[in-house]
Amino acid sequence: MIWDPYYECMELEQRRELQLRRLREMVARLAVNVPWYQARFAQIDFHPEDLKSLEDLASLPFVSKVELRDNYPLELLACPASEVVRIHSSSGTTGRPIIAGYTAEDINTWAETIARTICCGGGTRHDILQVAYGYGLFTGGLGLHYGGERLGCMVIPMSAGNTARQLMMMRDLGTTILACTPSYALTLADALEEEGVSVEELKLRSGLFGAEPWSEGSRQAVESMLRLSAHDIYGLTEIIGPGVAGECEAKNGLHVFDDHFYPEIIDPDTGQVLPEGQRGELVFTSLTKRAFPLLRFRTRDISALHYEPCSCGRTHARMDRITGRTDDMLIIRGVNVFPSQIEEVLTAVEGVMPHYQLVVTREGRMDQLEVRVEVSADIFSDTVRGLEQVQAQIEEELHKVLGLHAKVSLVEPKSIERSIGKAKRIIDQREAG
Ligand code: ADP
Ligand code: ZN
Repeated sequence: MIWDPYYECMELEQRRELQLRRLREMVARLAVNVPWYQARFAQIDFHPEDLKSLEDLASLPFVSKVELRDNYPLELLACPASEVVRIHSSSGTTGRPIIAGYTAEDINTWAETIARTICCGGGTRHDILQVAYGYGLFTGGLGLHYGGERLGCMVIPMSAGNTARQLMMMRDLGTTILACTPSYALTLADALEEEGVSVEELKLRSGLFGAEPWSEGSRQAVESMLRLSAHDIYGLTEIIGPGVAGECEAKNGLHVFDDHFYPEIIDPDTGQVLPEGQRGELVFTSLTKRAFPLLRFRTRDISALHYEPCSCGRTHARMDRITGRTDDMLIIRGVNVFPSQIEEVLTAVEGVMPHYQLVVTREGRMDQLEVRVEVSADIFSDTVRGLEQVQAQIEEELHKVLGLHAKVSLVEPKSIERSIGKAKRIIDQREAG
């Protein structure tokens, strides 16, 4: 089912007209209401009426996390503070949090884009949606909650954690859609046996997993363990929260709800806009946000955009699964390494579980990368020789993909700390040592 066919299946030309109209209104509002933007526009001698086409956007400066932090907490509000009805904050994965305000209209837009996301993932008003994203300042919980209610689902506001209770509710209420981080979905799947819940007793059919990078391998693992169809969903606090983009049943990239959030891909070094299909940093411009609209926000997330129509009938731009954020990139002996590349390799090896951690140390002047990964109980109880073979195989595969040697340590099932939200994959001990 498509939640809002008028906007979601609009002819491309018509959508571009709508985007331009909304963009011009937005920029005019920023120029009047936000002193920081006023000063910026004056610096480059830009007047909102100069904006004649969507391409003209490329001449405007970016906003980055640094500037948002400088304007902490609410300096960039584009509406009177009395119109703000809700505050959220980024989870602070990378430093000081960013505070985002929402007007009632923003909350409404958000519920709409999440309702679209749930429908993309095969949801209808008949579904029972278990929200196991954290509730609170983090956008995941309340975002999915309001969207689920908008669609008309029965929403179970579990929040993250308390795994035994999650599984009990899932079984007893007959949850059909699970929403949480992909790493927590794996944690839940892993805990089934221990909690005495059999997957046959569950009625899950769809999963809405996002808020952190994950791989095709993890998708297959969670799909087979929980017997559901796993959909990637994407969003960020600065832009609204989850509900910026989501995968439909074609799983052919994530539909970006670009009548609200206008996407561009840029070269992170030069800032140049890149053509369709090329990988680079994702940049978003708010088209409809009232309280906290951003012009050309640099997400640091790496993706690519595609515009050919999708078999589901939606005409939005589609973005590739995020392979990592530029701030997650490790530089090991001069080689760029993303955790997602390692995850792809690990999950392709039989008996290796998608639970891993990367430990970076420095010995003398040499960076060392250690990949700690869990293996199944069968493999772990194998002979020393058997273990060495698996280890050597992974090291070889990693060498092919990364072009550098990483030390692989196979660890016992469940020995790597389980996450309830975003998994912590990297332990960088270089600064300390
Ligand atoms: P923080 O930047 O503190 O983590 P948020 O909680 O707003 O703040 O998280 C947004 C970020 O989470 C995105 O910029 C992106 O890096 C990551 N993210 C969200 N959804 C996905 C996804 N489906 N795949 C990969 N990364 C994602
Ligand atoms: Zn589609």
